[in-house]
Amino acid sequence: MVHAEGVHKHYGLVKVLKGIDLKVAAGEVMVIIGPSGSGKSTFLRCINHLEKVDGGRLFVDGELVGYRQRGDKIYELKDAEICRKRSEIGMVFQRFNLFPHMSVLDNIIEAPVGVRGQKKAAATKRALELLDRVGLSDKRAAYPSQLSGGQQQRVAIARALAMEPKLMLFDEPTSALDPELVGDVLDAMKQLAKDGMTMVVVTHEIGFAREVGDSLVFMDAGVVVESGNPREVLANPQHERTKAFLSKVL
Ligand code: ADP
Ligand code: MG
Repeated sequence: MVHAEGVHKHYGLVKVLKGIDLKVAAGEVMVIIGPSGSGKSTFLRCINHLEKVDGGRLFVDGELVGYRQRGDKIYELKDAEICRKRSEIGMVFQRFNLFPHMSVLDNIIEAPVGVRGQKKAAATKRALELLDRVGLSDKRAAYPSQLSGGQQQRVAIARALAMEPKLMLFDEPTSALDPELVGDVLDAMKQLAKDGMTMVVVTHEIGFAREVGDSLVFMDAGVVVESGNPREVLANPQHERTKAFLSKVL
């Protein structure tokens, strides 16, 4: 579902990604950990067409991100095509980014109706199923400001799922939450993993990585330092940088 080959990204002279290689299979949950500034968010943003890769190749679902192949010619995607591609990938951020002036239900059906042209009745039916799935059936009429951070984040997950994404990206989805609200969000993500969603999750929740992750990647300074089975990497990290990082977060 995701295949990165020597992915590079720089901002001016600042090299942020210095050759990322990794593969995420369909149905796999990959957890990415690493210190602040190591390029985790930048990498997710490249997958989701929010940044352009400067070197190497990045494929999502077999297609080169940002390009389209016709015969033996390769074209850069136009903005409208990028929007369509982006709508196939769900992204959940640290901040929930819900539309404050819309009810929970309207937040969820906005893109399916506005972008995909779904009928409102069908989108609403689906939205209510998704709200049920994240444990918020009773909140359809609420406004974001009336919800806890954890509830808002679960609405954000339901909203992303409403577009039927083939891949879900999570960028520190629980980092902005009060500790007692983290569990409900992780539970919703765990359920999603169980249902077979392909997920790339940047998080400091090591318990989630151990329990739910199929693979764990430790990034530092724009490279993948170490990766493997989460249980094995966490129990027996091979690199000094991984050991140093884990000793701080465990
Ligand atoms: P992480 O998510 O691992 O904390 P980021 O991907 O957010 O790391 O950032 C990696 C580095 O790239 C940081 O040094 C950050 O300052 C820099 N960076 C990120 N976005 C930009 C940008 N739009 N312009 C310039 N530098 C950026
Ligand atoms: Mg980040």
